[in-house]
Amino acid sequence: MVETDKVVDAWDSLQKILVILAHPDDPEYFCGATITRWIRAGHHVFYCLLTCGDKGTKDLTLGSDELCSIRQMEQYAAANVLGVDDVRFLNYADGYLVPDINLRRDITRVIRTIRPDILVTCDPQTLFTANAGLNHPDHRAAGQATLDAVFPAARDHLSFIELWKDEKLEPHIVREVWVCGTLQPDVILDVTETWETKILALFEHKSQIGDPEKLAERMRNRRTAESTPEKPKYEEKFRRLILG
Ligand SMILES: [Zn+2]
Repeated sequence: MVETDKVVDAWDSLQKILVILAHPDDPEYFCGATITRWIRAGHHVFYCLLTCGDKGTKDLTLGSDELCSIRQMEQYAAANVLGVDDVRFLNYADGYLVPDINLRRDITRVIRTIRPDILVTCDPQTLFTANAGLNHPDHRAAGQATLDAVFPAARDHLSFIELWKDEKLEPHIVREVWVCGTLQPDVILDVTETWETKILALFEHKSQIGDPEKLAERMRNRRTAESTPEKPKYEEKFRRLILG
């Protein structure tokens, strides 16, 4: 059953929300309007990007190190538009992300350090996207490694015991996981009120978006089928897991 947006994120206290995704611009593209909605409600949002997006360019004069710096600065600026509390990068190589035990340990460390109530990641099962494209392999790897870190690694002190013994990081149970980029949503949020802020944040990813006016037009065309250009309605979709 798909739940209405009024109920599912009407938490009765302020939440700490951690967004773990693969690349700079993923948070804004996948769920930037929802992040804005949550920040406007007073919740605190933290980003962890697993790579710095150091491969995706057609500019033959740019190397990976320079591109990494540019993408990080753009991500900080975009997060600032939304009011995100903190952005951190794990600096794995863009395009080569695999859900191995090292990545799982590094994500577990971040979860146990930030200790979020709510965690947002993407769906590792999405091989083909809703618009008949291929999903980026880093997105699938990021979702898989993050879900594996949430359960059971972050929960059990004997998992990655060095985090507990040497780094003094206590186990942590994430209460809810919100999975974006999914073809099996069970939560659909009406994010019409924050859609323009999502577009403003996307404008900060200057090295990725091309012509900003064309991007804005594409994003505004993503209104729901039943809405009109004069009175558009926008949605972001998730699969929600209740764990704690
Ligand atoms: Zn991406």
